[in-house]
Amino acid sequence: MTQQKRMPVLFIGHGSPMNIIEKNKWTESWRALGEKIGKVDGIVMLSAHWYTDGTFVTEEHNPKMIYDMYGFPVEIYEYVYPAINAEAIRDLTLESLDHIAEPNHEWGYDHGNYGVLSHLFPDANIPVLQVSINRNESSQYHYEIGQKLKQLRDKNILIIASGNIVHNLRRIMQPQATPWAKNFDHDVAELTKARDIAGLIALEKTHPDFKLAAPMPDHFYPFLSALGATDDSDELTIINQDVTLETLTMTSYIWGKIH
Ligand code: ZN
Repeated sequence: MTQQKRMPVLFIGHGSPMNIIEKNKWTESWRALGEKIGKVDGIVMLSAHWYTDGTFVTEEHNPKMIYDMYGFPVEIYEYVYPAINAEAIRDLTLESLDHIAEPNHEWGYDHGNYGVLSHLFPDANIPVLQVSINRNESSQYHYEIGQKLKQLRDKNILIIASGNIVHNLRRIMQPQATPWAKNFDHDVAELTKARDIAGLIALEKTHPDFKLAAPMPDHFYPFLSALGATDDSDELTIINQDVTLETLTMTSYIWGKIH
């Protein structure tokens, strides 16, 4: 059943895979957010962990679990998010993307996806598909992917982008990294509040710390896709402006009404 309200758009800073099994202030905030959003007919998930040569959409009806992390407790590798991938939502997504995306049989749900959905929608009763992040394209393209997906918001489909504004695994746990991590995260928040879209798209080329914040932009590009699915009229809420493990920021953005 389609509701008249327009779905919000989320960018969730997902952080460590430990968040799959932990209960902490971030996972609690995701849980509260899911409750506020209420009824959703489908979820389109853009996850940093599906970084591909091309743009793809998951096709399998019962997506497999992908445990793309190493050295974590066994409970993480046993976790299953049992949602399905509905054909109708997949077709709508491919159509919205002007068929620049190809269906893919190989991928399922990775931890950028279930790491947050396990808390946002723990009942796993909403169809979920993933859209990959194209490693061969730059910021403008990822913003445009969001622009194309925007129309789904009026069809009671929730667009969620999952990454981290700052994500540097090479310097993880190095306390000296925190100042630039905080600064970059802060600069993104300020530009987002000001809706300086051109400034955000240009960050890749203009910000002196971009290469430190996003040595591989897989976790940053989903943010631009989320941004692309928004309008000036969307109310903005920023949560979890925290740095974890010194070089990951948990900052998450919600555009649109959630209450
Ligand atoms: Zn990640």
